[in-house]
Amino acid sequence: RVAYVNGQYVPHSQAAVHIEDRGYQFSDGVYEVCEIWKGHIVDMGAHLDRLDRSLRELQIKAPMSRAALSHVMKEVISLNRVKEGIIYMQVTRGVAVRDHYFPSDDTPPSVVMTAKSINSQKLDQIAAKGVGVITVEENRWDRVDIKTVGLLPNVLAKQKAKVAGAREAWFVDKDGLVTEGGSTNAWIILSNGTLVTRPANHGILKGITRAGVLKLAEMNGLSVEERGFSIDEAKSAKEAFITSASGIVMPVVKIDETILGDGKPGPIVQDLRKSFHDASELIKLE
Ligand code: PLP
Repeated sequence: RVAYVNGQYVPHSQAAVHIEDRGYQFSDGVYEVCEIWKGHIVDMGAHLDRLDRSLRELQIKAPMSRAALSHVMKEVISLNRVKEGIIYMQVTRGVAVRDHYFPSDDTPPSVVMTAKSINSQKLDQIAAKGVGVITVEENRWDRVDIKTVGLLPNVLAKQKAKVAGAREAWFVDKDGLVTEGGSTNAWIILSNGTLVTRPANHGILKGITRAGVLKLAEMNGLSVEERGFSIDEAKSAKEAFITSASGIVMPVVKIDETILGDGKPGPIVQDLRKSFHDASELIKLE
């Protein structure tokens, strides 16, 4: 495997950043994950737009032009021969002697990228059965719309889910409404077929896959309500699912101890998963 680190392609096993990288010391950085599907990068433009926004919100300089970034992405994918998988890219405020204040303006941001294959058959098998989620108290900061590498609450929530035999943890805010998962957006489907997901304000990450499902729903004439939903409403929903670039549309069949419907993925979510890429921008790799 090969990784990109600050201008160089290096063996993955030797890829490293300095111990005084601000990402390492302060989580002072942002990231993106894009899906690679059948030799295409999925929704690359939207991911790079979101990366720009995250950088701007944190006043981190763009490390390179968009054209250069997309060139490196394609190189990393091709050097790793990934046809189905994900690409990870991370930009931090760079390397400087540890001090909370921003480093001097001439400090270059650090950029790393990796790409890895994902066994899509295995993922499809998981999707065919559906997954469980647990619910946990929302304990993150109030700017989770910025895709920062500060993911400790997400890590702890997802590990709790794993120990409980679930795949994801849904954060629940002080009003009892689900915000999102540790690394996914959360959705339910009402008995009349309406999709419900929380509006993308500062309380959730505005998922690119979420946007894809909204577009797909419109294309397919499904009705959508962008509003918060409670755990109780979710537990009595007909279907539920989670979305992310790494798993696209993943059916949820269990919330805490409650089995949804007959415990199997429902028809609407299965259809959304199957036709998801109809609504994607696909950039072909050589
Ligand atoms: N919410 C959180 C907290 C995430 O970390 C992610 C993705 O990693 C998502 C939602 C889904 O976003 P996307 O569909 O852009 O992958």
